[in-house]
Amino acid sequence: MKTLETALVGVPRVHLASLPTPLERLERTEAAWGHPGIYIKRDDLTGLGPGGNKLRSLEFLAGHALQEGKDTLIAAGPVQSNLCTLTAAACAKLGMACALVHNGDRPARLEGNLLLNHLLGAESYYLGEATAEERSEFVERLAKEMEEGKEQKAASGCTISDGVLPVGKHPYIIRNGATTGRGALGYVNAVPELARQFAFSDEKPTIFAPGGNGGVASGLIYGNAAQGFPFRIVVLSVEDDRETMEANIRRTIGEIEEILELPMGCSLEDACVLDDSYRGGGWGEATKESVRMVEEFPRREGIMIENVYNSKVLVGMEDYIRRGLAAGPVCYLHTGGFGSLFAQF
Ligand SMILES: *Cc1c(COP(=O)(O)O)cnc(C)c1O
Repeated sequence: MKTLETALVGVPRVHLASLPTPLERLERTEAAWGHPGIYIKRDDLTGLGPGGNKLRSLEFLAGHALQEGKDTLIAAGPVQSNLCTLTAAACAKLGMACALVHNGDRPARLEGNLLLNHLLGAESYYLGEATAEERSEFVERLAKEMEEGKEQKAASGCTISDGVLPVGKHPYIIRNGATTGRGALGYVNAVPELARQFAFSDEKPTIFAPGGNGGVASGLIYGNAAQGFPFRIVVLSVEDDRETMEANIRRTIGEIEEILELPMGCSLEDACVLDDSYRGGGWGEATKESVRMVEEFPRREGIMIENVYNSKVLVGMEDYIRRGLAAGPVCYLHTGGFGSLFAQF
């Protein structure tokens, strides 16, 4: 019978992240929240650049790109995109060229992730005010012109800065913020890693994870089901309403099933809890509670969190614990984002 581990063996992948990332106990938070058994999975410590969840996805995406003979990665996102910075770090390590496309303007002073992108040698395109659709069109055009060896005309009308890595000719586009079936394999693969780390536990741990585009969530949910449910998974949206998030996750899990040729084997409803109660105004919109947590948590644990993904999930996790909705061990999945923290205040 095909198992998760045999299905993953044939999938192209490169080594980028320091794995396994640590699983640690948050003893002072246990005391503060009155709940024994609170853990943190330190995916902020994946090792390259500022670290973070996207490095797990990039192992599979860059692996695919290299297998296809590509020499350049193109990623897109808002100026403080964590995906963009980790793509730049991956390219540096792999000797690939990197083009980053931002909707937004180049600030006079490069701060946060933009500073890191510059130091990592990526070429950055700033489109000014642009919709996600316009940004995607630009990326497609840029890739086409690179492939044709043309001067990059797609760049006209936008600011370009800082390309120091060699310009490539064979670009690979990282689509949808790395939330694709292939990108989500990073978190499929994280489930057996985490299950080994929790082997000591007699009770089933509950994992609290963020839901942005839903890539992390899809990988975890699918991997957990395929492994026979070592965990309960709670996904807290930081972006979309529940229905939208659910549709994104459903689509991405479908893509995973296609790549691995292994069905998840149960319904999404039976496999996880999806909750949009803590997202406030959505992506990048802080809530009163998230602003409190972004200071409270590092002062208690010495671990930095940022205010777009990390703090909202911790707010939700605390609320679940206080309302008695999370019996037994609980684990916060820290997805990183350290670079963007410096531009959030
Ligand atoms: C992208 C990102 C996420 C969310 O991942 P999705 O797969 O889009 O849901 C969570 N945390 C951080 C720090 C991220 O950069």
